[in-house]
Amino acid sequence: MLNIDLHCHSTVSDGVLTPAQLVQRASQRGVKVLALTDHDDVAGLDEACMTAAEENITFINGVEISVSWRGRTIHVLGLNIDPNYQPLFDGLAAIRDGRTQRARNIAAELEKVGIDGSFEGAFAHVGARGLIGRTHFARFLIENGYARDMKSVFKKYLVKGKPGYAHHEWAALSEAVNWITGSGGNAVIAHPARYNLGKNVLNDLLDDFCALGGTGLEVISASHTQQQVEIFAGHARMRKLLVSCGSDFHGPDESFYDLGKLPELPAGCVPVWHDWKVPENAAAS
Ligand code: AMP
Ligand code: MN
Ligand code: MN
Ligand code: MN
Repeated sequence: MLNIDLHCHSTVSDGVLTPAQLVQRASQRGVKVLALTDHDDVAGLDEACMTAAEENITFINGVEISVSWRGRTIHVLGLNIDPNYQPLFDGLAAIRDGRTQRARNIAAELEKVGIDGSFEGAFAHVGARGLIGRTHFARFLIENGYARDMKSVFKKYLVKGKPGYAHHEWAALSEAVNWITGSGGNAVIAHPARYNLGKNVLNDLLDDFCALGGTGLEVISASHTQQQVEIFAGHARMRKLLVSCGSDFHGPDESFYDLGKLPELPAGCVPVWHDWKVPENAAAS
C-alpha cells in the first residue's frame, strides 16, 4: 500500500470533512505525505498544513482546477503549488464566481423536471467558503429520495443528456497549466479515465497538455480499474510524464478509496514526488 495520497477534498470545496479533520483522518490511516486538492480553491491549505505539522505528515499544497478543453470538462491538479502566486489566486477566484451562476442554471434545469428548491437545498450543504458544485446538488437529490447514493445520482442527473445538466465554460487548459507551473508546481491530469475520451482524443489532450508544460498524469485513482491503471501507466512511460496517485476522497460514505489505501504504482513509472522533499520512508516505490 502506498502511504502517499495526492488528491482529496475538504469542506472548502465538496468534501465533508474540514481540512483539519481530513488531515487527522489521513494520519490515523497511515498517510505520510498528503496533498489537499480542493476544487478551484486554496483556502484550506493553511489549516491542513498546520494540522499536518502536528500529525507529523508531510503536507503538499494542492488544488484541482476545472478546465474546458474542446467542449469537455477536464480536471487539472496543481501539486506543490505556491497558493499565493497572484495569477493562480486570481484565476481561481474567477472560476469560483462562475460556479454560482452555473448552480442557478442547474437549479433551473432541475425545475424543468419538477424538482424545486434545489439551489437552496444544495446550498445547505455548502461550506463556509460558499463554493457550490454538483456534489452539493447530488447530496440534496439523495436526501430527497431522487437517487440512492453518489454513484447512482451521477447516472440519472447532473450529467450531459440528463436532468440538471448545465453546460459551463471553465478555465482554458493553457491558463490552468500556466498558473500551476508559474507558481512552481506540477500540473497533473486528474483521473483520465473519467472523461471517456477514446484513444485518439486522449492522445490529443496529452499532446496539448505536454506542449503547454504539463508534467504529470494521475495513474492511481478511485476512478480507475486495474486495467486502466496499466493503460495510463503506459501513456506516462511513453511520454515521460510523471505519475501521481490519489484517492479523490470526499467523505467516509461517499468515496470508493479511503485516504491512505492506494495500490502501488506500476513498475517503471517516475512518481511526481521524485524531486520533492519527502521523507525517505514515505512513498517508497
Ligand atoms: P463540479 O466540479 O461541480 O462539476 O463537480 C464535480 C464533482 O462531482 C466531482 O469532483 C465529484 O465530487 C462529483 N462527481 C462527478 N461525477 C461523479 C460520479 N460519477 N460519481 C461520484 N461523484 C461524481
Ligand atoms: Mn469533487
Ligand atoms: Mn475531479
Ligand atoms: Mn477530485
